[in-house]
Amino acid sequence: MGKYSLMMGSKALVRGAIYAGVRFYAGTRRKPVVRIDVDKYLCKGCYICVDKCPTKVFEVSNVVGDYGAFLPVAKYVERCIDCGICELYCPDYAITIIRGDESEARG
Ligand code: SF4
Ligand code: SF4
Repeated sequence: MGKYSLMMGSKALVRGAIYAGVRFYAGTRRKPVVRIDVDKYLCKGCYICVDKCPTKVFEVSNVVGDYGAFLPVAKYVERCIDCGICELYCPDYAITIIRGDESEARG
């Protein structure tokens, strides 16, 4: 192995260690999802959140929102993997993911 390839190898090692450190730090700092709110004034009942959630957290409830649509509810919040897809895809900015401890779950 030449001097150049040794240098490249050690650079990749250092970069990998930095990424792993950042991921570990971010992972330990981030609090778990305890609640997901759907704003009854904003939701128009497109159900993109119900459809796109990879772990099927949402269900359509029998509660009617301001736009006359049945609101989705995060019935299985314990399944949430905090991917952020529901927040990102909601066209009406109606979803808020709440992270924290048990006291924040009650809202
Ligand atoms: S994606 Fe947003 S607007 Fe559509 S049903 Fe879900 S919360 Fe309502
Ligand atoms: S953050 Fe991801 S897993 Fe959690 S409810 Fe939203 S789409 Fe589902």
